[in-house]
Formats: sequence, C-alpha cells, structure tokens
Amino acid sequence: MAIASINPATGETVREFTAHSPEEIEERIAAAHAAHAQLRRTGFATRSAWMHAAADLLDAEVEEVAALITLEMGKTLAQARAEAKKSANAMRYYADHAEAFLSGRALDDPSVVGASSAHTVYQPLGVVLAVMPWNYPIWQVVRFAAPALMAGNTGLLKHASNVPQSALYLDSLFERAGFPAGSFHALLIPAGAVESVLRDPRVTAVTLTGSEPAGRSVAAIAGSEVKHVVLELGGSDPFIVMPSADLDAAVATAVTSRTTNNGQACINAKRFIVHVDVYDAFVAKFTDAMAALRVGDPTDPATDVGPLATAGGRDDLAELVDDALGKGAVATVGGAAGEDAGWFYPPTVLTGIQPGMRLYREEAFGPVAAVYRTADAAEALRVANDTTFGLSSAVWTTDEDEETFLVDGLDAGAVFVNGMSISYPELPFGGVKDSGVGRELSAEGIREFCNLKSVWKG
Ligand code: NAP
Repeated sequence: MAIASINPATGETVREFTAHSPEEIEERIAAAHAAHAQLRRTGFATRSAWMHAAADLLDAEVEEVAALITLEMGKTLAQARAEAKKSANAMRYYADHAEAFLSGRALDDPSVVGASSAHTVYQPLGVVLAVMPWNYPIWQVVRFAAPALMAGNTGLLKHASNVPQSALYLDSLFERAGFPAGSFHALLIPAGAVESVLRDPRVTAVTLTGSEPAGRSVAAIAGSEVKHVVLELGGSDPFIVMPSADLDAAVATAVTSRTTNNGQACINAKRFIVHVDVYDAFVAKFTDAMAALRVGDPTDPATDVGPLATAGGRDDLAELVDDALGKGAVATVGGAAGEDAGWFYPPTVLTGIQPGMRLYREEAFGPVAAVYRTADAAEALRVANDTTFGLSSAVWTTDEDEETFLVDGLDAGAVFVNGMSISYPELPFGGVKDSGVGRELSAEGIREFCNLKSVWKG
C-alpha cells in the first residue's frame, strides 16, 4: 500500500511520501532509545507540564488538524474537530493522573514476607512500538502516546499508510511541547517493515490497534521475542433492544452508534438484536432515520455521513452486503453503492440475516446495520454472543432483572445500558475473544507499559 494522502471524497491523490530508508529507521529507533534514558529520569511534574503544553498546542491547532483528518480519511469536519479535542482532553487527563496511577503500594504488614518493608513501583518499559489505524488518526495514537510518555516510555509510531500527514503532525507535536527529542517519532514504513522494527532489541513492547489479521501477525512476532503486547482489534458490537426500552431514544442512539465516523469505528453498534414485541416498530423507525441521513462532502456542515476511507474498504463492505442480499437478506434502506466519485456507501439496514451469510460472522466496517428478531432476553444474549468478537455492547431495557442478566452474560469488554458505547479516558477500554488483549485508558491503560517492580527490604 503506497504511503499517501488520498482524499476519500474524490479519490484524488493529494500527496505521496517515500518510505523511510533503513538508515532513517535506525536513526529513529536510536533516538527513541536515547530519549528513554533521559525521559525516565524526569519527574511527573515535568512530564505533566510538557503533556499540558502538547494538549494546548493541539487545541490551538484544532482547525488545521481537523482539516487534515477529514482530508485523509473522510469523517465530517465536526467529528474531526471533536476527535482532536477529545485527544487534547485525554492528554490532560494523563498529565493530571499519571503520578497517582503509578504510585505503587506498600504492604501494610511486611513481616508476612519476612521484610522490614515491601512495596511496589511502576517503571517504564522503554521504547514502545505503536501500530495504529486510520479511523481515528489522532485519537488512537494519543490514547497510546499520552499514558506511555507520562509513564516515561518513548514511542515509535507506525501509522496506517493512508494517514501520513496525521502521522507527521504527531511526530513533531510532543517535541514542540518540550519532550526530549526522540521521545515520539513516526516511522513512514509499510506493514511489512514492522517485523524488523519489533525484533530490534531496543524495542521492548508493542501495541496494535487495527484488524484481527494484523493483530495476530504482530502478536506472533512479539510472542517469539517475548515482548509485551496490547491488541485493540475489531468488533461487531451487539445493541439489544427490549420492550421496556424508550424506543425513540434507542432508535436515535442506534443511528448515531451505527454511523458515527462514517460507520468505521471498532465500537460502532453493528448488530441490532430486537425483541419481537418491538421489532416492527424499531425497524420502521430505524429505517426512516437512516434514510434521512445526508451523505456527502465531509467538509459540508450539513453532511451526516461522509465517504469510507479507502476504495478497498468500500469494496469489502459492498461484498458483505451483496453476499447477504444474494442469500435472502432484505435491505429496508440502502444496499448498493452509488456511481459518484469518492468512496461513498449509503446508510443501510438489513433484515433477515442468517448464520450462513458472511455478515453474520464478519465485521461491517461502514454504515451497514444488521437487524435480528429475538423472542426473549435469553435468545438475545445467545445471538449477541454468537460471534468471535467481544469488544463493547449496548443493552436497552428498564427491566432490572433483564439488565442484570444481560450485563452479566455479554462476552464483551464493556456494556452500556441505555446509552452508546464511547471510549472515555476514565474507563478502561479493550476487548475479549478476538477483539483483543489488554486494556487502554484509565489507570489500567498506563500500567500496561510498565514494569511493576516489587521491592523487598530485609
Ligand atoms: P489494519 O489493516 O489492520 O491496519 C491497522 C494498522 O496495522 C495499519 O498501520 C497497518 O499498516 C498495519 N498493518 C496491517 N497489516 C499488518 C501486518 N500484517 N503487520 C503489521 N502491521 C500491519 O486495520 P484497518 O482495516 O485499517 O482498520 C480497521 C480495523 O481496526 C477494524 O477491524 C476495526 O474494528 C479495528 N479497530 C479497532 C479499534 C479498537 O480499539 N479495538 C479501534 C479502531 C479500529 P498499513 O496501513 O500500512 O497496512
């Protein structure tokens, strides 16, 4: 895949980049390694001041950054602005909380381990490689970089090949804010070059956000090197609607949750599992609301849904839908791409999904909703869990017993009750099953890339 910014709304190649040479890669690894020796000795107060400065820069440059995001991957400008602001807020969150999260603990009674004192301390691991996707080109990276740098690690970013300008923006951001040179660098490299970077002895750990095949490949390499790995992979999140729910609120949230980021978020709701008593009303209202969305130029404030980020992504989505329609599914709205320039795909609602259809098992990365009819909470739970993914989930009910049953039973890293799956700096984020390993955000996220050292004193 060429390293290039290609405008998804037009298909026009805006700027191409040459991949870094082996010498340039070596320079950046060496700089990250040297910077770690320096960064780990700085205190939390210093790092916090730099991280606040980085957040302030990002806030001040929000319009430039938002334009870049929209140009490279096609989300609406309003959502791109929100992404940049959310990223700045996460930086501040870790600037303010890292010290407390990494304070370690002392044993109340050290005599039980035969010591005069015993405590734990969190220390940085070193140079961490981050392999990141294009769908939130600033947020996904900041979600890793803010805790990693606050812990005293340094970062090397291998960003998706279609967002090189976002990568280069982040490449300079932390250094401009005061972090030592080399603390955070982007590597402009193809996916095939990740292995040799990861096998470099100076690189101590890796985090990957992206597809399951990429995650499996990187985890296998990390495993063979015995290096720590965090994986944030795909999802096919269920959105369960029971009869006691506020149906209008559920429908409005269903639309937003399926189409946010042009339908290309790991935690978009993708499978809508609806109780038979409210199924017809849900499908009718959901179809009308999806049909009312305005698809078009992502820089136009009136647009709700922009193009998909890549031509390949649109083709993959169209194939999933065609497969389902060919095997008997029904599109109540959408179901076919238009002829216009750019990689647009219309908001689509599909009913009649059966286990033999690819869509039953695979993630639809675009604004395509699969709706299932179920008889009761037990069947809803069975359908919801009948997937290899387990990222997030949503439950719409006001019945306490149903809520308890579903919250307890869902195989997922999160459950949102009467609300929409969103990532918050304050809440751990991650999946189970094929959706990933480890957690980002909150205290757990910053501890992932630390050595938890036990200190025993006789
Ligand atoms: P992708 O193809 O896996 O790309 C993600 C990153 O991995 C890119 O930097 C890509 O580089 C790199 N990559 C691809 N194959 C690789 C390999 N074999 N070895 C090393 N690196 C490799 O993912 P995508 O299709 O662009 O992104 C969408 C997927 O990401 C969806 O499944 C979505 O659900 C998931 N996602 C998950 C989360 C989460 O937090 N769980 C968040 C966002 C997205 P190139 O661009 O150079 O190929």
